[in-house]
Amino acid sequence: MTVWEYAPAPESRALANLQPNYRPFIGGEFVDGHGEPLTSINPATEEALAEVSTASTSDVDAAVRAARTAFDTVWGPMPGSERAKYLFRIARLVQERSRELAVLETLDNGKPIKESRDSDVPTAAAHFFYHAGWADKLDYAGYGPDPRPLGVAGQIIPWNFPLLMLAWKIAPALATGNTVVLKPAETTPLTALVFAEICQQADLPPGVVNIVPGAGDIGASIVEHPGIDKIAFTGSTTVGKGIQHAVAGTPKRLTLELGGKAANVVFDDAPLDQAVEGIVNGIFFNQGHVCCAGSRLLAQESVAEELLGKLRARVSTLRLGDPLDKNTDVGAINSAEQLARIRELTESGDEDGAQRWTSPCPVPDRGFFFPPTVFSGVEQSMRIAREEIFGPVLSVLTFRTPDEAVAKANNTPYGLSAGLWTEKGSRILWLADRMRAGVVWANTFNRFDPAAPFGGYQESGFGREGGRTGLEAYLDV
Ligand code: NAP
Ligand code: MG
Repeated sequence: MTVWEYAPAPESRALANLQPNYRPFIGGEFVDGHGEPLTSINPATEEALAEVSTASTSDVDAAVRAARTAFDTVWGPMPGSERAKYLFRIARLVQERSRELAVLETLDNGKPIKESRDSDVPTAAAHFFYHAGWADKLDYAGYGPDPRPLGVAGQIIPWNFPLLMLAWKIAPALATGNTVVLKPAETTPLTALVFAEICQQADLPPGVVNIVPGAGDIGASIVEHPGIDKIAFTGSTTVGKGIQHAVAGTPKRLTLELGGKAANVVFDDAPLDQAVEGIVNGIFFNQGHVCCAGSRLLAQESVAEELLGKLRARVSTLRLGDPLDKNTDVGAINSAEQLARIRELTESGDEDGAQRWTSPCPVPDRGFFFPPTVFSGVEQSMRIAREEIFGPVLSVLTFRTPDEAVAKANNTPYGLSAGLWTEKGSRILWLADRMRAGVVWANTFNRFDPAAPFGGYQESGFGREGGRTGLEAYLDV
């Protein structure tokens, strides 16, 4: 038998237009930061990509002052129809520079190029287009006539979708007339700093967008700065809780988008092959570094074995490796710390008695990689059923009745998303009513649209991003 192998199909690294140095963007200019410089690395090779000058507390102060001046003098008073033009221009420039942004994102983050190219960057552009449309229609958004912006928004984002999370934060803030100071994650600051260039290209008035790279302490100094009117945070539940403490008793408004441990529930009448595709997409997309990942599979007992067999066969075909290769399905884990955390949690799965199955795919010896892994025989008490692994690891549990499925799906401190797989429309509606999750997908998973609000229940946070509801987080209503 002839076995056909894929030829390598690497995207050109030169498209990233990688610079040796990147700097904070404050008041419309790139400036030298006064923090400890950091080196951003490529997690697929562990090589240094670029040196990044970081902000200090005094740089954060300068950024907040620039944002305040821009809010008071230009952006706040500007008619929505004028703000819309800037958002539209930014959206077009993100599209124009999409190949550069996609390759840079893949280098800095480790995600497969097919995902940064076909998902992250187009969805980021879509958020700017969508919000450009809202900027002159806020009177009709249902928040009364002439709703007012809050002022200066401090925004802190994680490393899993660097440019997309930036778009989710900046687009609604700008559309509603706020100005922003944004901190990208320490391990993935590069696309945010290219976005700053796009703001210059779009002639965005100085100070409307400020980007301050740095570590967690710079996030904390944004949170604590008295000149900030609103904090929007996406990240871990632990840091989110700390921010909630810091903001309590101040007039600052707060939205938190935190972790998740979503259930993907498969009933015995579901089309299993389609469900397998949804399960794979739910947990192996972006190496499972997805807050709304379908990390717990709940399979109805009567089809559990068949489903597992199909799932293992499908997962065995996923190609792990060079994220810049267009054939790669699973890229690199973003950092050594995250890889260590995934290893630690999966070892707890072994110790607790779950059965580990690992995809037979070859694993590169350089870089941070973790092969797709499926644990079966998982009990609700195990750490791998309760804690967010944030990696390519699926925990499989079973259920017998719809009531048991609901009870198990909701048995989590989180509540960000859920997936339902069944032929029966009435069952979908019955279940969707009972899922305590911000987003419920039926016979699909991980679908995003700027018009659909996204956010959580319980320890997954509060506030919504996207859609009409997402505007509320940036308006004084
Ligand atoms: P993280 O440690 O909470 O970091 C998130 C951001 O907060 C980073 O920019 C981080 O800076 C900064 N930060 C760290 N300590 C801080 C502090 N004390 N005060 C203010 N900011 C601080 O989270 P992560 O591990 O990078 O991201 C993974 C988590 O994000 C997962 O739990 C995931 O579920 C969640 N997430 C949620 C959503 C959602 O929409 N709900 C989306 C994506 C991710 P450094 O980078 O320098 O540490
Ligand atoms: Mg990096």
